Amino acid sequence: MAATLMEGEALAARIRAEVADDVRELGGMTLATVLVGDDPASHLYIGLKHRAAREAGIEPIDHRLPAETTQDELLELIAGLNADDRVDGILPQLPLPPQIDEAAIIRAVDPERDVDGLHPFNAGQLYLGRPTLVPATPLGIIALLDEYRVRLERARAVVVGRSDIVGKPVAHLLLQANATVAICHSRTADLAAETRRADVLVVAAGVPALVAADMVKPGAAVVDVGQNRTDAGLVGDVDSAAAEVAALLTPVPGGVGPLTIAMLLRNTVRAARFRRGSLAFPAA
Ligand code: NAD
Repeated sequence: MAATLMEGEALAARIRAEVADDVRELGGMTLATVLVGDDPASHLYIGLKHRAAREAGIEPIDHRLPAETTQDELLELIAGLNADDRVDGILPQLPLPPQIDEAAIIRAVDPERDVDGLHPFNAGQLYLGRPTLVPATPLGIIALLDEYRVRLERARAVVVGRSDIVGKPVAHLLLQANATVAICHSRTADLAAETRRADVLVVAAGVPALVAADMVKPGAAVVDVGQNRTDAGLVGDVDSAAAEVAALLTPVPGGVGPLTIAMLLRNTVRAARFRRGSLAFPAA
């Protein structure tokens, strides 16, 4: 029997509508984005983020810098945004050009306005089980699993991928939801043996069809985060034949993707509440 598809569009639209209500209630807000260089995918993502922000009543503040921008120039811009009281959220679009140390830029963003949830303070809070601002894609994954009533407590969850933006944070959110969690990566000895044990399998590796149907436990819930541009179009990390084995599976596109931007907007509301005092931000 074919798996039920965990579609993200409808849930994302609902979240965006909630965000629009919150933004109205709070009297508007702003999201500053910083794009360095001319990576076409980054330009596309920034465009999508701006459009979604505007639709929710969030005013984007658009900063674009040339590819040869130095680290000091970028740090100066971030310091200016941190000092600007009109700015509710700050998002440096990644990846940054090679002459810039990404970690230094992430560290420079005011943790209260770090809507990507990547600042070491926010990452540490998540590690401690006291989430403040959490990366958007992992939040979207958990929201989608919740929407489809996937039980996490007592489940064995396996995450493939250990990036700071998807793999590690989603593993922590799953742990917080009382799943028993394993994290696999490119040096895992026997990936198939690990994934076959997963009641909940989250794959964020960026490798087309990395997870074949026979690597999926029958009846599992499978979240395919991968977005790989191939000659055949956009494909995920999970082979489409897995739909015959899993009970639930996210489509690519249309699964996790739409939730990422919705959760970024929700993070912007959260950041605005932190700064305006209606939500307490723990001392850094
Ligand atoms: P990344 O390249 O930073 O990390 C990939 C991870 O996968 C690494 O930890 C690596 O160890 C692991 N990996 C690579 N090859 C592997 C293999 N053969 N076996 C086991 N593990 C392997 O990537 P990322 O930023 O985490 O993104 C992962 C994928 O998710 C990409 O396709 C990306 O486009 C997609 N993505 C989608 C969204 C969305 O909104 N849907 C958001 C972020 C990322």
